[in-house]
Amino acid sequence: MKITIVAGARPNFIKIAPIIKAIEKKQNEGAKLSYRLVHTGQHYDKNLSDTFFEELNIPHPNANLEVKSGSQSVQTAAIMIAFEEELLQNPCDLVLVVGDVNSTMACAIVAKKLNIKVTHVEAGIRSGDMTMPEEINRIVTDSITDYFFTTSTWAGENLLKYGAEPSAIHFVGNVMIDTLYQNLDRISAPSFWNKFDLEAGNYIVLTLHRPANVDEEKSLVNLLAGIDKMVGDKKIIFPIHPRTKAILGEQNLNLKNILFVEPQGYLNFMYLIKNSFAVITDSGGISEETTVLGIPCFTMRNNTERPETQNIGTNTLVGTSIENLKKVFGEFLANGPRKAGIPELWDGKASERIIAVLLTK
Ligand code: UDP
Repeated sequence: MKITIVAGARPNFIKIAPIIKAIEKKQNEGAKLSYRLVHTGQHYDKNLSDTFFEELNIPHPNANLEVKSGSQSVQTAAIMIAFEEELLQNPCDLVLVVGDVNSTMACAIVAKKLNIKVTHVEAGIRSGDMTMPEEINRIVTDSITDYFFTTSTWAGENLLKYGAEPSAIHFVGNVMIDTLYQNLDRISAPSFWNKFDLEAGNYIVLTLHRPANVDEEKSLVNLLAGIDKMVGDKKIIFPIHPRTKAILGEQNLNLKNILFVEPQGYLNFMYLIKNSFAVITDSGGISEETTVLGIPCFTMRNNTERPETQNIGTNTLVGTSIENLKKVFGEFLANGPRKAGIPELWDGKASERIIAVLLTK
């Protein structure tokens, strides 16, 4: 079986790393399985792309479509045009897409129209929020997927509601967590650890990059000022996403606690998360990682496509207002972290399960 694996953006790279390892393991055992890795070039900054390939030992992509930035439609169209050419020149039996970025949807459509089977890893999750480009990507991708791999039984139920064949849905666990377990003994302190006088448990990690939080400069500045004041004398490490940086520019915000740093590589970032007092974020992936690491996580969104991080894990959905964050964070400071667990099958073996299923197809 020939598989083309697609990755376009930071969270994708983290998800494909263990899948490729699982394929290579099976190849070494003699399985008739080959893969071709296609980077669409959706994320192209070194900090958001190359670093992840190096740190997670992901092989150099066989092709880079170099689509770069653009509006939602410009980027999606550019990926489709380039990926069609790629598939016509390099035919395969199956295209595997992960997550919910534009590359996920664009490549799924191209593959399906060329009558190639589509596999979606992290299928079926839904925020119910159609203002999120990711939600549209999820729905469209799942509507043409042949083999669904899910992180929860809830995701499988969503797929059934949309009319998926029960036999096409495979609950395998979470590939993001495979990567976490595979690298936990390799994580390391970033170079600024001593300079900022960080100690385990004495600082907060902040990440913000969703349009709803960062696209309006005034409300972003208000939010940062509010967070800065809310945490007493705790330092806040803020690896600033290029999207967020572009909005803030070079202005001096006069913040006392928030320390701006570049987007971190995976190994430094997970070290920061694992040793933090708490995390404030609008990322979905980070709420999964904090759940497994048992770190309190406050998500600055009105909804989540990963309810298990809330029902079982450490995640609290805060909404986007600083007032509510202050309230929820105050309760956490007063009562301490709540009891949390790890969702079913988030055990580091999802990728192996995926490849075992694909080998039966
Ligand atoms: N991440 C990282 N360095 C950073 C911020 C994030 O390595 O500075 C990793 C982290 O493991 C996270 C993943 O990137 O789970 C995806 O983050 P992002 O917020 O970009 O995507 P989302 O989860 O919102 O799709």
